[in-house]
Amino acid sequence: MDAEEFRHWSHKAADWGADYRETLRNRPVRAQTRPGDIIRQLGETPPEAGESMETIFADFERIVPDGLTHWQHPRFFAYFPANAAPASVIADYLVTSIAAQCMLWQTSPVATEMETRVVDWLRQAMGLPDSFSGVIHDSASTATLAAVLVMREKALGWKGNSDGLAAHAPVRVYASKQVHTSIDRAIWISGIGEANLVRIPTKGPLNGMDPEALDAAIQADREAGFIPAGVIACTGGTSIGACDPIDAVAEVVRRHGLYLHVDAAWAGSAMICPEFRTLWQGVDAADSVVFNPHKWLGAQFDCSVQFIRNPAEQVQTLAIQPEYLKTHGHDGIINYSEWSVPLGRRFRALKIWFLLRYHGLEGLRTMIRNHVTWSAELCERLAAEPDFEIVSQPVLSLFSFRHKSSGDADQHTIALVNAINDDGRIYLTQTRVDGRIAIRFQAGQSEMTREDALAAFDVITEVARKMG
Ligand code: PLP
Repeated sequence: MDAEEFRHWSHKAADWGADYRETLRNRPVRAQTRPGDIIRQLGETPPEAGESMETIFADFERIVPDGLTHWQHPRFFAYFPANAAPASVIADYLVTSIAAQCMLWQTSPVATEMETRVVDWLRQAMGLPDSFSGVIHDSASTATLAAVLVMREKALGWKGNSDGLAAHAPVRVYASKQVHTSIDRAIWISGIGEANLVRIPTKGPLNGMDPEALDAAIQADREAGFIPAGVIACTGGTSIGACDPIDAVAEVVRRHGLYLHVDAAWAGSAMICPEFRTLWQGVDAADSVVFNPHKWLGAQFDCSVQFIRNPAEQVQTLAIQPEYLKTHGHDGIINYSEWSVPLGRRFRALKIWFLLRYHGLEGLRTMIRNHVTWSAELCERLAAEPDFEIVSQPVLSLFSFRHKSSGDADQHTIALVNAINDDGRIYLTQTRVDGRIAIRFQAGQSEMTREDALAAFDVITEVARKMG
């Protein structure tokens, strides 16, 4: 493709993107296709001869939009958001055109130095102490895996990578049942094994881990010959926003000399607002904290930041330096691939740089505060309806509810979620709370307005009452 054709189709793609964003409100939020609808439209064999961009682009417009669930739709209330603020999208266009592989400082110095700078901007924005450095990963799952590998290595005297786990007593990690499944996966992949992920009971209105039970579990494990390695706490669990009491947990962790990783993948964005920081009070004492700017903050997916108290430990765990990756003559520079699991790295710092500069922290704080307010308003309105019950109270902008029914409650709730999503005006998902299904609502899409929250009330009550 020559430069003129590349320019033409890049403009076309940018125009398509702007039109798409402008007309999103007219589309059903969740894809309304059936399994197989899309694959039937895609040729079964690869093209032998090249095709024109006209043909490819026309097929894109014909096939792709209908197969999308629209994460940038203002009435996307499912899961957690994956916001892509236009400023960060533009940065990502540039990154895609540049297409640098930023594994080492010398493979694109600007990517490394900008990463150092914007991670520190985020640290300041979130009120974390300057004892934290940080790194950008693709996902919170990867960041948590890195943290689990570090806690495992530390606990094994830095011998796990070399000896394997069979040479040692089992390593133990502690977390509540409210943590995201990325924690289980990190435990599997690190070889620690699910059997050694010790679940600590929770208590209180925030469903946080019980620090006394944590203390007792660590003590009992030591006496039984296990090797306690670390604790994974959460601020803003995925199901109902559970928050562990980080200060009390950190105290136990310190006393036992373990490693503390905090998963704030979703709720971390809200910490740019000082009034929400009580939810993770004591986080200064963590060894590692992950949050996803690609969720609520608006950095185009994917973008996950891990703050680290002692990066040397992470480098000791993950760095490998074959001759072909050495950068002779540059002592003391950072090579972020030594802080993360994959070697290859995208230039993710640019979208954070564009995002923070375009909106400013004040713009992003306003967005987050609005979402929290509108979610609380919707929760109050549903609570006032006699045929609805609130299952979990709002934590930031997340709460869960149920529509009362005389039949099987779980079946009714699932049927209601499906009916709401088939309707298409809003998108919600379900979770399980104390063994029973509930519907989750989270407000978080960047373009959402108060009217969208009001529309959610209308759709939920209308569809539920139609079902009876
Ligand atoms: N932690 C929490 C609390 C989450 O809600 C999620 C995903 O929603 C994750 C971790 C995993 O995030 P990622 O998709 O970036 O791996």
